[in-house]
Amino acid sequence: MGRYFGVWLVISVFISLTAFSQQGAEYYLTGNFKEIFGTVVTDKGEQRGEFFGTIGFRVVPGEKGLALYLVEFNLVSKGVPTEKGDSGLLSLRLFDLFEKPLSYDPRSGRASAEFQMVLHYELIDRVKGFRRAEGKGELDLFPSFTEEMKGKASIRFPEALQVAETGGTTADLDLTLELSTAVLGSIRKISLVGRVRVDWTRLRQPAQVLKIQPVFIGTGPTDPNRTGVAFNTLMTRASELWSRCGTVRCLKFEVNNPIYLNKPAYKVLESETEAASLRAEVSVADAVEIFVVERMTFACSWGGGACFSAGTASAKIVTCDQQLNVPAPCPCPSFCPATCPPCPPCQTGAVNSYHLAHELGHALNLDHPGQPYGLAAVTVGSNMEPSGFCCDNPNVQSAKNCRNASNPLLYWGTALCFGRPDIMD
Ligand SMILES: [Zn+2]
Repeated sequence: MGRYFGVWLVISVFISLTAFSQQGAEYYLTGNFKEIFGTVVTDKGEQRGEFFGTIGFRVVPGEKGLALYLVEFNLVSKGVPTEKGDSGLLSLRLFDLFEKPLSYDPRSGRASAEFQMVLHYELIDRVKGFRRAEGKGELDLFPSFTEEMKGKASIRFPEALQVAETGGTTADLDLTLELSTAVLGSIRKISLVGRVRVDWTRLRQPAQVLKIQPVFIGTGPTDPNRTGVAFNTLMTRASELWSRCGTVRCLKFEVNNPIYLNKPAYKVLESETEAASLRAEVSVADAVEIFVVERMTFACSWGGGACFSAGTASAKIVTCDQQLNVPAPCPCPSFCPATCPPCPPCQTGAVNSYHLAHELGHALNLDHPGQPYGLAAVTVGSNMEPSGFCCDNPNVQSAKNCRNASNPLLYWGTALCFGRPDIMD
């Protein structure tokens, strides 16, 4: 009997797998690219631009052939000359995370898409400053003014493209972007032509990785007075909180070796202007920089750390080692949100273990609940609650936060994700 039962079980599993593969099959074609060249029309004329980035398609086989959706598209360039100076790091991401159906002709392999992209370049921050919102508690978020571009892309896959479990193929891109909503208006048009290698994966999107560049003050790792001693703990907590996205989305951080700045004056930041000078010291094009100082004299207004140019390739975080060693009694007023799980005793030496996880959420374009800054929506009571310097941000990840996270620097990588958000939306 046992043997027959086993055979029956194998057959029924086979049948249900077959049924599943016919009805719910989903495949992804994803690729990272470097060195795609194009033309950038600025107010100073035509410039040559070099771009890196990522592209991702969801591919659904159906009776009428394949249906293709553009699910991710990011472009980053080190910048181009404009009338007001060099643009600085320039980045574009899809305007929203809704899937864009492509018109696709399976015979020729040609697909075309129209979409909106969000454009940012550092010159906008230099000329316009940052957006500020009045909010309760810490003001730890300094989002950039951003522009929008209307995009048209023609994408050519090989003829008679077939889905596959593994392996890859090519996609030839021909892209034109035109400025549709201006803030500064120095960059008007971008055209790109290039070939991208794209790889197949089945059922789940592959991992998306964000590179992190720590920046500490000191002569090097053996300097006993160096800053950055809180970084590893804060980063471990951040990686752990974001790994809980697993069942919704696979997001990972990859941490570069720290850069040491031998400029002792930055150990204690005395003003926001000094923090701006510190941020200008290091720019790594493909990473989010995290500057860790010993402390800041204005820690209360930022909650001890802040994120600038959220959701763009220029995103930078400034924080301090005092996050794990808050002075007791805490010098700041308490801002524990009512929805937040019981806060640790405020005013008596809080430990902000999940502070960096929160700032990285801002780097990933996430707002505070209620969207005071107009960035992507997040869940009330999650880690994206602002908490101030004297309370930790909630140790709570949510499915919405995971889905809405975006940054043009996210690239496709390989990682296994098993975590599950604490709040399903
Ligand atoms: Zn915040």
